[in-house]
Amino acid sequence: MAANLIDGKAIAATIREEVAAEVSKLKEEGISPKLAVVLVGDDPASVVYANSKKNAGTKLGFEFELFHLPGSTQEEEVIALIEKLNGDETVHGIMVELPLPKHISKERVMKTVSPLKDVDGVHPINRGYILSGEEGLFPATPESCIEVIKRSGLPIAGKHAVIVGRGETVGKPLVFMILKENATVTVCHSRTPDLAYHTRQADILIAAVGKAKMIKADMIKPGAVVVDAGINEIDGGICGDVDFEAAKEVAGWITPVPGGVGSLTTALIYRNVLKGIRLQRQQQ
Ligand code: NDP
Repeated sequence: MAANLIDGKAIAATIREEVAAEVSKLKEEGISPKLAVVLVGDDPASVVYANSKKNAGTKLGFEFELFHLPGSTQEEEVIALIEKLNGDETVHGIMVELPLPKHISKERVMKTVSPLKDVDGVHPINRGYILSGEEGLFPATPESCIEVIKRSGLPIAGKHAVIVGRGETVGKPLVFMILKENATVTVCHSRTPDLAYHTRQADILIAAVGKAKMIKADMIKPGAVVVDAGINEIDGGICGDVDFEAAKEVAGWITPVPGGVGSLTTALIYRNVLKGIRLQRQQQ
């Protein structure tokens, strides 16, 4: 194998240690950091995510409360719950599991979460801070893409980063987050002609599409850093957007799937709870 493997699990373990140390310090100051998760309905994946968040958070020393509401819950009741959590000083982070049932407006619910407790980084105010470069709470997956590069000791400033995908969750916020790191940025999407021409220019190639193994080895510049944010279900397992087995012979550094970008997301959500506490203190 030519490429160095970027070990997302090991990086996540380091971030968890940092987060746990900060939780201990806060507890000495009498603050018990707490994440509240709101789950409406019984979407099986959401139930699994909520429970795994609970386990991860508890291990890090966080308080955790799951508000699991029936699928028939009315929008006003969800809004009222979030407003109550916004005003609850013992709750430092709020996360709403998606998807919500169809009769509930995702946009309205997201806008109701206090921007200072929005650990998923979805509130329009936090989205605005990504553009303005101000401190805010930013989404975990694009943050993870940047962390795996930085923590591997690889430079971003001055490098040409090519992002494939402009989705609201990963690609679009990542454009501005990596621009802040002083990369030169190209964004590709489904209407980009000759995608391979662009991807071959990349010093840092980030895939955030949702199409299994679509980035082939001949689309990668030899020695490039390849970061795969894609999660695709195939043959009872998961794979990324990059054709890993072939790509690792060309790339200089590469993240696997699983074991790459996705390994960091829960740790980064909890790190956002701590960042939220700092931002909440500044507002007081
Ligand atoms: P979206 O579905 O919102 O966006 C996908 C993007 O890919 C769109 O911008 C689309 O272009 C582009 N695209 C689709 N087909 C092509 C193509 N053939 N060539 C070039 N671009 C194409 O995705 P998300 O941003 O929500 O997620 C992206 C990936 O990240 C998914 O695989 C998802 O599973 C994964 N993910 C991973 C997480 C993790 O923890 N690791 C968390 C969240 C998501 P257009 O805009 O023109 O339609």
